[in-house]
Amino acid sequence: MTDCAGIATCPFFNDRMQNMPFIADMMKKHYCRDDFEHCARYMVKQRLGKDRVPGDLFPNQSTKAERLISAGEIV
Ligand code: SF4
Repeated sequence: MTDCAGIATCPFFNDRMQNMPFIADMMKKHYCRDDFEHCARYMVKQRLGKDRVPGDLFPNQSTKAERLISAGEIV
């Protein structure tokens, strides 16, 4: 298991997002502490940059991340 490099500053990991899901702790364990490469926020950050990660994007929204990445790379 490997921690995501963004843990120190990530709004999701640090409970700074609105409407945090009740399974947030499980998501942190799954994504932030292990499978971060499949986290939607991580995916967008890696491909488009930190400033392009939506404030309301949760780790399990990979389909939305893929749409954002596709649109972002065309623009
Ligand atoms: S895995 Fe995703 S939600 Fe967790 S710290 Fe990294 S970017 Fe943030």
